[in-house]
Amino acid sequence: MSSSSLFQTYNRSDLSFERGEGVWLYAADGRRYMDCASGIAVSGLGHAYPPLVKALQEQAAKLWHVSNLYNVPQQEKLGELLTSNSFADRVFFCNSGTEAIEGAIKTARRYHHDKGQKDRYRILTFENAFHGRTLAALAAGGQEKYLEGFGPKAEGFYQVPHGDIEAVKAAVDETTAAILLEPVQGEGGIRPFSPAFLRELRALCDATGTLLVFDEIQCGVGRTGKLFAHEWAGVIPDIMAIAKGIGGGFPLGAFLATAEAAAPMQPGTHGTTYGGNLLAMACGITVMETVLAEGFLQGVREKGLLLKQKLASIVDTHPQVFELVRGEGLMLGLKCKASQGEVVAAMREEGLLPVPAGDNVVRIMPPMIISPEEIDQLVEATEKAASRVEAFA
Ligand SMILES: *Cc1c(COP(=O)(O)O)cnc(C)c1O
Repeated sequence: MSSSSLFQTYNRSDLSFERGEGVWLYAADGRRYMDCASGIAVSGLGHAYPPLVKALQEQAAKLWHVSNLYNVPQQEKLGELLTSNSFADRVFFCNSGTEAIEGAIKTARRYHHDKGQKDRYRILTFENAFHGRTLAALAAGGQEKYLEGFGPKAEGFYQVPHGDIEAVKAAVDETTAAILLEPVQGEGGIRPFSPAFLRELRALCDATGTLLVFDEIQCGVGRTGKLFAHEWAGVIPDIMAIAKGIGGGFPLGAFLATAEAAAPMQPGTHGTTYGGNLLAMACGITVMETVLAEGFLQGVREKGLLLKQKLASIVDTHPQVFELVRGEGLMLGLKCKASQGEVVAAMREEGLLPVPAGDNVVRIMPPMIISPEEIDQLVEATEKAASRVEAFA
């Protein structure tokens, strides 16, 4: 048994870090690594991003927490930044992705409840989804390996295969409150849904009065080169959950909705102690202002394309190691032929820290502030890692 005082719920790698700067992480042993995971799509502005440090420090010197007993102008400000740049009219702040999903599910159910459709509570999701680790989010994700041993699966969630519109049509009935999906599945292996599929979902939802809920916890806030990934398809949801990137490393989540979908969420229906905390708001505002600044998202698209093209040529020259590269912007996945574990280990030997995902994919999600020179370094090291894996094959 490990002598650690911590729950043994993680398979941690034996690295620890003392500081970070930009895309770089400095390990306790003095080695420098390129962060190719961004703490799983969290540190989109990299480490120790000066405006973020400043915003947090300034707020920390003033006021940390007042609760939601009072008006919080910073919540209004971040809310306005989110609503004026999205489909949404209302935002609720929480602290994590799974809470954002819970809130999104509650909003969807309450919407139908208040229309007198009390049996309309089922949520349709897709295979290989990941929506978080609380009990409802686990049921929504539907993955046996995460549900096992945690008692009866929360009622009212069911699944169809990824991208199967006929299965969706057959599954949606008068008990379906919402269809919930990640426009690009993250944990599932950087698996996007096609724009055509998303448009069909929207049309089906409109025709049946079903709510469309997007989980943009991983793919949102600039990661794909658009503020929200669904913008690529030109399809808007009724409700959306975000987290991860929005806090830039500070715990922050939110669910957003149209005025109509949010209307039933009246005083007393939902709440949180920490949600909308002033430190989180200071970080969220800075992240949004940075991502929305002229040229930022364009830069993510350009750098993403550059990286994807270069990774594609590595795939071509190392067909025993890699099968393909997929994804958009700086949310890329290398589907491996070799074992994912070997690839990750070899990349780490070369100073890169990517993160594995389902479908034997290695995710490449560096901070969005990565420079073109750093992209070259990433590519060069990936190439070396591929040769390393080949040498051992
Ligand atoms: C990470 C993630 C979640 C859960 O977020 P937590 O902050 O870990 O609770 C939910 N959905 C998606 C798509 C995610 O990537």
